[in-house]
Amino acid sequence: MVIVVRPGATKAEVREIVDLIESKGLKTHFSEGTQVTIIGVVGDKTLLVGTPLEALSGVDKIVPIAESYKLASRTFRPEGTVLEFPGCRVGGKELVMMAGPCAVESEAQIMASAKAVKASGAKFLRGGAYKPRTSPYAFQGLETEGLKLMRQAADAYRLLVISEITSENDLAEAARYVDMVQIGARNAQNFRLLREVGRSGLPVLLKRGIAETIEEWLQSSEYVLSEGNYKVILCERGIRTFETATRSTLDIAAVPVLKARTHLPVFVDPSHAAGRAAYVAPLSKASVAAGADGLIVEVHPEPKKALSDAAQQITFEEFDQLCRDIAGMAPICGREFRHGG
Ligand code: PEP
Ligand code: MN
Repeated sequence: MVIVVRPGATKAEVREIVDLIESKGLKTHFSEGTQVTIIGVVGDKTLLVGTPLEALSGVDKIVPIAESYKLASRTFRPEGTVLEFPGCRVGGKELVMMAGPCAVESEAQIMASAKAVKASGAKFLRGGAYKPRTSPYAFQGLETEGLKLMRQAADAYRLLVISEITSENDLAEAARYVDMVQIGARNAQNFRLLREVGRSGLPVLLKRGIAETIEEWLQSSEYVLSEGNYKVILCERGIRTFETATRSTLDIAAVPVLKARTHLPVFVDPSHAAGRAAYVAPLSKASVAAGADGLIVEVHPEPKKALSDAAQQITFEEFDQLCRDIAGMAPICGREFRHGG
């Protein structure tokens, strides 16, 4: 449940609410909006039976949250979450573009990628250093060296860094180099990893699991939020269905569904959904039209020579055209995006 604090309530009145709840063994989470302050209460609610919360002077009303996820629910933060980064805001009017290769392969490759995606309007440089490959014999990523190269390239072109981690053992190392960690589809229900990322306080882009329902995905996000880390972006990347024409089936409907159910920003990864470069632009545009707050796109200097996901990475020129098109669409969708940043 959430407790809506009476407008104008004093700090002491708010403290009284929190103390009463915590004295019963439940946890409180704060959401201070421009209009209202909301206290999220998590834990076993039966412990509150007989506790006269409504009678406290600081309480305006008590709203039950029926959903299995509590802190991720729209009810907890009705106005939506906006994440602030140097040079961009995620979850507001601005559309935020993240782009770069599937994997960091070399200094020259990541430098060229950073230069190109920055010139087209990206704010984040993506690139995998720890690659979750289906085959243990496939290229596994440059690990720490890859993270260093990304940081260097991003700093050279004033970009932010997003990179995936696949184990909590890599969290401390990654935290030295990235501005945001990615939890990939294969780890979307690795609850231990989610908790550790929550504890780290690092911004996180949480992909949807390959066979995860929206409800389960929101519960995955709840693992991060329940550790007090609200810097979470949800990223639809396609799900496993009977269709084989695309690598995964992009669930466009997930975008408006999530916008209704949660306050967290919603991104789309058209690249892993499509599996084919030719489908990336149309799926990107559909995602923006559906209300996505941003995109994460795989871009490579020479896609055909890529060490991973060669079929789906787009060229610098294709990415540039996509950014031009999105800049044209943005105002119609009530968003802001400038080609060239
Ligand atoms: C990636 O973004 O590099 C990736 C592996 O994506 P996903 O986890 O969505 O498959
Ligand atoms: Mn990839």
